[in-house]
Amino acid sequence: MDNFLIVLHRKIFLIFYIHKIYNIFLGERKMSQKLEVFYNRKPCYDIVIEQDFNNLTNEISKLDCSNKKICIITDSVVASIYKDEVLKLLKSICKNIVFYSFSSGENQKNLSTVNNIYNFLIEHQFDRKDILLALGGGVVGDITGFVAATYLRGIDYIQVPTTLLSQVDSSIGGKTGVDFEQYKNMIGAFKMPKLVYINIHTLTTLDERQYYNGFAEAMKHGLIRDSMYYEWLLSNMYEICDREPEVLEELVYRSCQIKKTIVEKDPLEQGERAILNFGHTIGHAIEKYMNFSLMHGECVALGCVAAAYISWKKQLLSMEEYYEVRDMFVPFNLPITIDDVNVDEIIKITKSDKKMEQDIIKFILLKKIGKAVIDRTVTEEELKSGIEEIIYKDEME
Ligand code: NAD
Repeated sequence: MDNFLIVLHRKIFLIFYIHKIYNIFLGERKMSQKLEVFYNRKPCYDIVIEQDFNNLTNEISKLDCSNKKICIITDSVVASIYKDEVLKLLKSICKNIVFYSFSSGENQKNLSTVNNIYNFLIEHQFDRKDILLALGGGVVGDITGFVAATYLRGIDYIQVPTTLLSQVDSSIGGKTGVDFEQYKNMIGAFKMPKLVYINIHTLTTLDERQYYNGFAEAMKHGLIRDSMYYEWLLSNMYEICDREPEVLEELVYRSCQIKKTIVEKDPLEQGERAILNFGHTIGHAIEKYMNFSLMHGECVALGCVAAAYISWKKQLLSMEEYYEVRDMFVPFNLPITIDDVNVDEIIKITKSDKKMEQDIIKFILLKKIGKAVIDRTVTEEELKSGIEEIIYKDEME
């Protein structure tokens, strides 16, 4: 293990210096970027990445909304920080703006909140040409998207994601929905937004735990699709922890690029899009087993470690790669072990997940760092060994 740590430290130093040289020769990436997302090979919407809200009106104006009503949908926490600023800006381009806020938290992501929003829209006479704007994290985005997909058989919506998780992941790809009873994301629809506007600066008001929660998905993107990005994340560890704006912009841009490429190829999750579920099969089961006391990203980190372990045991990853993947979550305050859990119960929950196909687990493994594959051969024993690997063991015992 000591040898392994020495190799790991050397690798981090090497990556760090390569990165510095890269920056000297190429300079930092310019502030403000745009990605165009295609749907069925046609341009569908832009992802605009900025350091503030100043360009929001400009981007929304392109959707020609002078004669439309806009309903900003948000949660109580985001409203207390960003409501005034966003409202003031939008009033300059649209005369008819209304505002709807619900209490923050995953427990609001249900049909009752959707019902209340339908009533609010009917009360304010929203029709099919009007627009919804989701201002907030993944919960606000998922609910607003679902309302947009279903109200009057579909109206337009804009995503303005304000958490790291929603900026790198949930705002892109058009998956919308709500939880139903104890089942997560059980009711939903695909509905593409008209625009995703990301203000990196909103990440500065996130608390530590929420911030790192989103980082797990960024790490996942590197692991499944882009080893260079994975290495870049490691070499920028300190800057990411310090939330340096240029580095965050690059991180969000590169993650969005990966997610965009995957969802463009498979917008309705018929095949390849499933690789985005790396770390989520066991991760979701732990989330449910822990009764949602751990955050989604924390469970994804645990799920990634277990899946990387199974990849090693199936001789896809080397031992060194497995330990590296495992330990790289640590500097980002993400867990790699969990206190004693009932393994059989977690397996049972895994098997009741949406990712099952006629009793076969559709599991995502790493063929190598930067390349994920869909695997249908993972046995219950292998699943068990992956979960046991992440159970905390006191080395002193
Ligand atoms: P969240 O929306 O609940 O936000 C987390 C907390 O941060 C909330 O209390 C919120 O009020 C607060 N917050 C949001 N922005 C803030 C800011 N800038 N400053 C301070 N506080 C802020 O949670 P999340 O982690 O963003 O999203 C999780 C949800 O996303 C889950 O419901 C998950 O199922 C969903 N999700 C969806 C997809 C998809 O493809 N649709 C993908 C991944 C996750």
